[in-house]
Amino acid sequence: MSEATLPSQAKVVIVGGGVMGVSLLYHLALEGWTDVLLIEKGELTSGSTWHAAGQCPSFIADYNMAKIHDHGIQLYPKLEELTGQYVSWHGCGGIRFALKQSEVEWFHRVASVGKLIGFDCEIIDPAKIRQLNPHVNTDGVLAGAWTVNDGHVDPAGITQAMAKGARNLGAKIITHNRVIDINQKKSGDWEIVTERGNIQCNMVVNAAGCYARQVSQMVGTDTPITNMKHTYIVTESVPEFMEQDDEMPVMRDPYPSAYYRQEQKSALIGIYETANSEECWTHRDGWPEWISENELFNPDFDNLLPFIERVMQRIPMWEELSIKRVVCGAIPHTPDGNPCLGPAAGLRNFWHCNGASIGIAAGAGSGKYLAQWMIYGDAEINMAGVDPRRFGQFAPGTYTKAKSHQDYEHMYALHLPGEERPAARKARITPLYDRLLEQGCVYTEANGWERPKWFSPDGRKEEPGFQHNNIFQIIAEECEAVRQRVGLLDLSSFAKYDVTGKDARHLLNRISANRMSPRTGGISLTHYLSESGRISGESTITRLGDEHYYVLSGAVAEDRDFDTLQHGILENEDVQVQNISDDYGVLVLAGPRARDVLEKLTDTDLSNQNFRWLTGKEISVAGFPVRALRVNYVGELGWELHVPMDNLLPVYDALWATGQEFDIANFGTYAVNSMRMEKGYKGWGSELSNEITMVEAGLMRFFADGKQDFTGKDATLKVLNEGVSQQIVYLDVNSKDCDISGGEPVFAEGSLVGITTSGGYGHTTRKSLGFAYVDPEYAPPGTQLSVELLGKQYDALVISDPVWDPQATRSRTDATE
Ligand SMILES: Cc1cc2nc3c(=O)[nH]c(=O)nc-3n(C[C@H](O)[C@H](O)[C@H](O)COP(=O)(O)OP(=O)(O)OC[C@H]3O[C@@H](n4cnc5c(N)ncnc54)[C@H](O)[C@@H]3O)c2cc1C
Repeated sequence: MSEATLPSQAKVVIVGGGVMGVSLLYHLALEGWTDVLLIEKGELTSGSTWHAAGQCPSFIADYNMAKIHDHGIQLYPKLEELTGQYVSWHGCGGIRFALKQSEVEWFHRVASVGKLIGFDCEIIDPAKIRQLNPHVNTDGVLAGAWTVNDGHVDPAGITQAMAKGARNLGAKIITHNRVIDINQKKSGDWEIVTERGNIQCNMVVNAAGCYARQVSQMVGTDTPITNMKHTYIVTESVPEFMEQDDEMPVMRDPYPSAYYRQEQKSALIGIYETANSEECWTHRDGWPEWISENELFNPDFDNLLPFIERVMQRIPMWEELSIKRVVCGAIPHTPDGNPCLGPAAGLRNFWHCNGASIGIAAGAGSGKYLAQWMIYGDAEINMAGVDPRRFGQFAPGTYTKAKSHQDYEHMYALHLPGEERPAARKARITPLYDRLLEQGCVYTEANGWERPKWFSPDGRKEEPGFQHNNIFQIIAEECEAVRQRVGLLDLSSFAKYDVTGKDARHLLNRISANRMSPRTGGISLTHYLSESGRISGESTITRLGDEHYYVLSGAVAEDRDFDTLQHGILENEDVQVQNISDDYGVLVLAGPRARDVLEKLTDTDLSNQNFRWLTGKEISVAGFPVRALRVNYVGELGWELHVPMDNLLPVYDALWATGQEFDIANFGTYAVNSMRMEKGYKGWGSELSNEITMVEAGLMRFFADGKQDFTGKDATLKVLNEGVSQQIVYLDVNSKDCDISGGEPVFAEGSLVGITTSGGYGHTTRKSLGFAYVDPEYAPPGTQLSVELLGKQYDALVISDPVWDPQATRSRTDATE
């Protein structure tokens, strides 16, 4: 129904009435924001939502995505009671098959996540699988992950129920009205131009599903989605189902790359083709026409048939059945398969709620946590993995297409730690790419950048897996080179900004927690906070001059921190922020002989007296201008050399040639992780996230209390006064063959007391190390805890000091060892 009058204004306008937009509307209303209007060009659910198969799996290994899914599984069975609208929830559970040992290990990881979140994931043998589903042939199946609490639901039913719930609370929905254009006004508010008139609002949300790119382009931006074709078939009635009351669980099976289940008394089979996957609307470069509603496509049955045949091998009783219905529809897909939930890069008060490829399962949680972010400035889960700004401006288009196909085709394939996938690589490379490749470099990717992960001395390839593997010793040798001699690393993937102007210092002091150095050349490590004091970013900032600061952030924070800087500028302030990430390359030269190498290539006095730890200077290296910063993430004597990209190769070559005398070695990010764990350095995105404050993260030494007001100051002080409910701990884990990777449960005397954030093996100290957030009573050093890794419990001792060089003398040294 098209509700009569179009209001002339609203606090928030949501564009798109699929499960994602409607869920956001409902959750905003539940939180008290009812002056919200949703506009849909057709009927609600007439995009991707209406034809979805409706499965809601809780089998998710990523803690934050699992929280998003879990909310749906909790909410959907209750929606009818909450809203009065009929919802058909089928709580039949699900079983995922493991065909390889590594998949069984992965199941244990998921089961651990289940313990943290509260969903059941039991690892069962083939006999138990057959007990739960007597029709299935378990040939080749090693184990099943039995998630008893999940199921499937009617997608239109839950969407209509959430719409009713939202309306009951006062939110509004207008259907059959297309948003034609969106303009930002001078005041910062938005004008939404629709077929039936204009609406003024403070915030806009792009929940346009397959049209998300078109809606983004109305405001001069873009969105990294590709619209993939996906097919399921429904058969005629299955005689055996007619005779049974129990519904068979949803089966998820890598062998046919398919899900299959009971749909009333029929069989429903959905295929994720592992090759030749297709996009929709290719004649229009993937763009749907505005008139498209409830649109279906012709599937390529030649491509689907081999997968369907495999399903028939699994359930032979389905072999002779004819097909009653074929549903081939469009799914929006992002490069990493996660939705885009959060602010649009470069814009104020323009939000994304799109890119959901499993949007029925993720719809409720997406709406809940995005609503929290919009209303309170933070969500209660770590949103870094769904923040739309995790993809740079380069991503929409070719890169996203290639990644989306790859992700779609791997829907039922385990992505093992260490596994590199080939699609859309080399999106951003430095002039060193081939030079390092010649030396055995194995690259990994961060925000499109290829960056060295490790160097293969003998052409061997990594055998990816959860346990220590065939390159363990090689990483140990890279660490040894840095700890004993000198190492060189291309870390150009840093996000880099020049912040200049008379008010540059005021800006940086106002938007971040630490004090900018009053001295030219001074370096500050500082954190950006939300109004509620949660950590939203981290930068290393060097004062290059009175009106010139050089700001460095992590690769994936490039767009996000640019917004933080740019949006922090007040009217009439004289500040310019320039993103120079592509203009500068970065070489990390670190190790006790770093000074010996560098001083042969520069006239600058590199002694402690002239060039102290945590200072930076513009110097000449091998005749080229370089911003040299005496800082690093590995805890050794060394410099980060920031070199104009065009000169990166000659500077690298000069360092490499000069370093031969000192037995210089290349190293990669695996070695960096090992060494930063030994130094107890925390990482943004894992230890430092929007869930926590500097108090919980143990970062108060970077909190400049005496400074002028800055964002998040009062909220942080309040937390400091009132106390915290969780606290970071540094753990020494008694494990020989695997390490903490993040998202694992932490126990004290058998009770769940916390969650790990990241970890790794310290090759120099031969310790397995990690970080976790735990109840404060378990945080004192010396507390004996245990962590669950791959289904086993390992003792984990809370330690206080870095296990390597606790006094930090090595990085500050004046001597060559
Ligand atoms: C065959 C198939 C099976 C699937 N099975 C499952 C499953 O089992 N489980 C699961 O979780 N997911 C499944 N999915 C995926 C799921 O359908 C999508 O992830 C989900 O529907 C996306 O919801 P959405 O709200 O983002 O997009 P949509 O439902 O497409 O909603 C977007 C809406 O925006 C409207 N719109 C766009 N532009 C404008 C404009 N300018 N003005 C006004 N309105 C506009 C559109 O008309 C549309 O209604 C399946 C998908 C397919 C194709």
